[in-house]
Amino acid sequence: MLVLVINSGSSSLKYQVRDVAAGSVLTEGLIEKIGMGNGGDGDGEIEGPRDHAEALEQVGAAIHAELGDLELGAVGHRVVHGGERFAEPVLIDNEITRAIERLNPLAPLHNPANVLGIRAITRKWPDLPQVAVFDTAFHRSLPEHAWRYAVPDELYTNHGIRRYGFHGTSHEYVTHRAAGLLGVPVDEFDGVIAHLGNGASVTAIRGGKSVDTSMGFTPLEGLVMGTRSGDLDPSILVFLGRAGWTPEDIDTMLNRESGLKGLAGNNDMRSVVEASEAGDAKASMALAVTSYRLAKYIGGYHVAVGGAKALVFTAGIGENSYQFRALVADKLGALGIELDAGLNSQRSKEPRVISTPESAIPVLVVPTDEEQAIAEATAAVVHPSTAP
Ligand code: ADP
Repeated sequence: MLVLVINSGSSSLKYQVRDVAAGSVLTEGLIEKIGMGNGGDGDGEIEGPRDHAEALEQVGAAIHAELGDLELGAVGHRVVHGGERFAEPVLIDNEITRAIERLNPLAPLHNPANVLGIRAITRKWPDLPQVAVFDTAFHRSLPEHAWRYAVPDELYTNHGIRRYGFHGTSHEYVTHRAAGLLGVPVDEFDGVIAHLGNGASVTAIRGGKSVDTSMGFTPLEGLVMGTRSGDLDPSILVFLGRAGWTPEDIDTMLNRESGLKGLAGNNDMRSVVEASEAGDAKASMALAVTSYRLAKYIGGYHVAVGGAKALVFTAGIGENSYQFRALVADKLGALGIELDAGLNSQRSKEPRVISTPESAIPVLVVPTDEEQAIAEATAAVVHPSTAP
């Protein structure tokens, strides 16, 4: 089945057409500057489409130009927030669309854009089944002691303030592939998955299910990321508020100016590693803070799992930065973890083991592929018998 995978943002729309069975990408693209229709400033910049409907006309034309009359079987949407309701991918109808819209307050930048994408498809291809795949869904298995914040109950009951977790599609996909590589049934997989991209999160997996994860109410909690701070003392925000910072100032500082960027002046891991190797003390400090935070989480999640039997690295940094993996592993000696330096520094796109035979548990690198995961989930909802 051919699935059109849509990742709809407020001003951009990423798409891929996937052949689910072959696992291949037939065509892909990115439409930018949506809603900036009159934004051409005369220096040759292309004007963006007026809205998501117009953006989809461009997608439709591009797909037709590339693939001719090949027929799409379904559309799979990456939806950021599924709240407490959605624990699995669902077939979209009007009621589901409204339910996603009701979650707007929890993901004000993302869910409204996802809904715009869904409605635009409904108008353009009314007969095409659409499936929503939620970034939070895999973490619906978190036990209450892991998802509760220790604040007055009304914050949860009146405002939905609790830990939700994100990157679920990737954590679930990588869990399945890691279990496959180790030859254990997925429902017997106990491990820790570190998804390290521009956004980063780590998840504790017991019996193939998420039992804790480092992102919380929003994707800000947890690890040190490219431009996000991760965990800090919440009183800092009160302090800054009293000093005259607005909520917008604080939001920008924590989400866009912190993390590697705040510590090293650069949000790109490759550049920070290079700077550190060239003797830049701030870059080395940033790597030390970032790897230490992750190592602490891995230690904690080893306990949460009840004894992890594998540690898995994925996403841009996790798959590519052998230097960062080594920095983290160096801090995990107490768990008996030992990397094989040769295997760790080998470049490969394949899932692989990078620890020594003596390591107490295997350390794996497993490339993630969120679009393939969304395509597979979509096909499985539309035609359960085609599930891989
Ligand atoms: P996103 O969360 O945007 O999907 P990615 O998963 O693409 O992000 O990860 C981006 C991060 O991966 C950046 O910090 C980038 O420097 C890092 N990265 C990508 N390729 C390499 C590489 N070859 N070596 C080290 N780091 C890399």
